[in-house]
Amino acid sequence: MSSDTSDLSRRGLLKKGAAAAAGAAAIAAGAAADAQGGQAPAVVTGRTFRAWVSRGTGPKRTTLQDVKLRPVTGRMVVVRTEATNLCYSNVGVVLGIQAAPPSGANAPANAAAVGGTLAGTDSMALIQGHGGIGVVEAVGPEVRRVQVGDRVCVSGTPQCGSCYHCLRGRADICQLLGRNLASDLIPVADLRDGTPVYSNSHIGGLSELMVTWEEWIVPVVSKASNVDLGMVCSCVSVAGLGATTSGTLATLAPGSAVAVVGCGPLGLSAVQGGRIGGASIIIGIDPIKARRDVALKVGATHVLDPNVEGDKLIERVRALTAGPTNRAWAGGRDSGGRRSGAGADLVVEAAGAEFVRPKLESGPDPSGILPMQQAYQMASAGGHVITTGLVRGTITLPAFLFAIGGVTHSGGQAGGANPMRDIPRFVEMLHAGRYDPKLLATRVVGLNDVLGAYEEVAYRTTITALMVM
Ligand SMILES: [Zn+2]
Ligand SMILES: [Zn+2]
Repeated sequence: MSSDTSDLSRRGLLKKGAAAAAGAAAIAAGAAADAQGGQAPAVVTGRTFRAWVSRGTGPKRTTLQDVKLRPVTGRMVVVRTEATNLCYSNVGVVLGIQAAPPSGANAPANAAAVGGTLAGTDSMALIQGHGGIGVVEAVGPEVRRVQVGDRVCVSGTPQCGSCYHCLRGRADICQLLGRNLASDLIPVADLRDGTPVYSNSHIGGLSELMVTWEEWIVPVVSKASNVDLGMVCSCVSVAGLGATTSGTLATLAPGSAVAVVGCGPLGLSAVQGGRIGGASIIIGIDPIKARRDVALKVGATHVLDPNVEGDKLIERVRALTAGPTNRAWAGGRDSGGRRSGAGADLVVEAAGAEFVRPKLESGPDPSGILPMQQAYQMASAGGHVITTGLVRGTITLPAFLFAIGGVTHSGGQAGGANPMRDIPRFVEMLHAGRYDPKLLATRVVGLNDVLGAYEEVAYRTTITALMVM
C-alpha cells in the first residue's frame, strides 16, 4: 500500500469516522431542536415596554403607557416592533371619535362595521394597532413557525391552517379572525396598577413589543428598510395585492382591464397589483386629487374623479374598457346593446365609509354605499368584483343585472390573501422593485407621535402613515 491511499489507512478511517460521527450528532441535535420548535422554551417575564393603550371613551382614551410583559407561554410570540401601519379602520378606537350613526334601516348590526370598538372591549386596556413587522424576541414552547431572531410580519389576518376555511384555501377568513371580542382576548401584560392589558385583535402594533400568537405570524426573510417592509406587509397593502394577484377570489388575466374604486393605501396597492399582474387598462377612481396623482405614478392608465363624473361614472368606465372592436362575431364586448361599452374584467372596491369628514376632497357618499354599488355596475358581463371597504348601511343593486348580469362578487377579507403563501410573495415584489412602498408611506413617525399621525390618517391628508421604531 502506498502512502497516497492514506484515506484507507486506520488513521484515515478513524479521522473520517470521527467526522461522520460528529455530523450525525449535529443532525440528531438539529432534529431534536426541530421537534421542540427550533429552540428551547424562551421565557421573558417582567419586562417593561411602552405601548399606546386605549381604555374608556372619548378623545383621550388612548395614552402611552409603561406596561409589564406577562410570562410567554404556549404559542405566544413576542416581536420587537420595527414598523406598524396606522390603519384607517382603527381611527375610531384610537382617537375616540364615533362615526355619525346611519339613519333607520341602514343601521349596521355590529359596531365593528363602522370602525367602532368591538363589543365589550371599551372598558378593557387594549394595545392598539393592526400588526406590523419586527424581530422575534421570544417564543412560547409550542411555537414552530418562527425562532428568536427571525424577521416577521405580524399579519392582520391569522392563518391557523386547520379550520374549515384555512383547509379549503380561504385563510383570509380563518376562523380565528372573528375571535377578537372581549371574551376571546388573553392578557399579555399589566398596567402599573395591575390592570390586565390585551392586544387589539390579538396583535396590537402601536407599541415597542407586539405580543401575539403563532397563527398571526408570517416569517419574512428580508433586508428591506423598516418603512419599505412595513408598508408592503401592512394589512392594506396585503389586501390590495391579494385582491389582484393572489388568485384566491378572482384571476386577473394579463392584458385585461381593472378598475379600482378608492385610491387609499389599499386601492393604490390594488393598482400596483393590476400593473404587476399585467393588466392593460387600470382605472383609478378617487375624489382626492393627490391620490389620483399617486395612482397614475404607480400604474393607473386612467384616473377618474367621482365628483366630476357623477351619474356618468359607470358609463365612463364602460367606455374606457370598450376594447378595440365592438363588432359581433369579431370580439365585440357590449352586452347585446342594452349597456354600451364593456366594463372592467376585475373591479376592486376599496372606498369604504368616511369615518370623519376628510379635510381634502370628500366623496359623493360618505357611507361608502354608492361607490360599492357603482363598483358592481362597472364590472363587465362575466367580470368580477372584489369588495374590501368597510361601509355603513344597505346596498341595493338593479335586480336584473344582479340576477343574470354574469358578474361574480367576492366579499373577500384581505382581498383573499393567504398570509403564509402570499405575504412572502409580496415581499419578493418589493425586492424586485415591482411594488413601490414609498409613494404610499407619506407620513412616517416615531412612537411618541402616533396620535398626530392618526389624525392625518383620519382626515386623509396623508395616504397612510407608518410608525417606525
Ligand atoms: Zn388594517
Ligand atoms: Zn384557520
